[in-house]
Amino acid sequence: MFDENIATILAPYKKILILTHEMPDGDCIGSALGLAQGLKQKGIYTDVVMKTPIPEKYSFLPGSEEILLPDSLNKQVEAVIFVDCSDMERIGFNLKEFCPKINMIINIDHHVSNTHFGHFNLVDTQAAATGEIIYKLLLKMEAEITPDIATALYTALVTDSGSFQYDNTTSTTLKLAADLLDYGANRKTIKKYIWENSSLTDINVLKAALNSLSFSAENKIAYIYLSLNTINSLQVSDENFEGLINYPRSIAGVEVAIFFKEIEPQVVKVSFRSKEYVDVNQLAAVFGGGGHVRAAGCTLSCSLDDAIKQVLNVTQQRI
Ligand code: AMP
Ligand code: MN
Ligand code: MN
Repeated sequence: MFDENIATILAPYKKILILTHEMPDGDCIGSALGLAQGLKQKGIYTDVVMKTPIPEKYSFLPGSEEILLPDSLNKQVEAVIFVDCSDMERIGFNLKEFCPKINMIINIDHHVSNTHFGHFNLVDTQAAATGEIIYKLLLKMEAEITPDIATALYTALVTDSGSFQYDNTTSTTLKLAADLLDYGANRKTIKKYIWENSSLTDINVLKAALNSLSFSAENKIAYIYLSLNTINSLQVSDENFEGLINYPRSIAGVEVAIFFKEIEPQVVKVSFRSKEYVDVNQLAAVFGGGGHVRAAGCTLSCSLDDAIKQVLNVTQQRI
């Protein structure tokens, strides 16, 4: 935690970058956009940069149209705020290559696996979403919580807490969410775009994923997988996969749910969720990943079959 006013720290810098993790989700997008708008009120100008375009369903968020891709990074920039990233590699590209002059790194995050890589680290592992931390930060800066900011931060909270179902949901989360509604967060629009907006492709992906549903360790492990062939045949993009892991997780008696996605030949992205006792952050760390105790991820460089074998083997030992 740091007590310095972020606005004071950033005041000397003309332009600040806000970066988030690759395959952006509701928390990192909402947090970045809310922070950018709050800082702007204080005369601090930022560029929000993400490795890939955001999923279409988040495009209703005010300010999302201004999110940039790494190609358009300003090479002169010296200060950067990482949002919702447990380490610098999570952004998915080499920052030093694009911005060699960076000399101020601020790290705002809630992952237990956070490596405290910044010059200033605002890491609260009790926060259900990075959006909670941003909200408190904006209040401390005495920024006005506009309806647009409230909408961005409410999106962060509601997505990372699984609509306030996951165990990371605390009374603070709910109090902050209530505050954000009072500040004008557009709950109906959020609901419509995020949960009532499935495309036919989403449903076809769900069908394929459920088709792969398998079990291990006396049904305490449930997993699904999608091969590159399947993904290509369905003509899907990154955004069609969110929430799939909730299906194996929702099964009675399952402790660990795993989703294997072959993203390139010999590259498999693995998502973990647990319910009661398995620390999936530690599990993901075995393969160089991380995250939270109940939700984590990693990427393996091997075939889909090998990834499934290796990951099941390690998971079985912890169940
Ligand atoms: P996902 O399964 O991609 O939804 O990710 C679950 C949680 O783990 C999120 O908080 C991610 O930020 C984190 N996570 C996913 N993949 C990785 C990784 N390769 N390294 C570190 N954290 C990760
Ligand atoms: Mn995230
Ligand atoms: Mn998050």
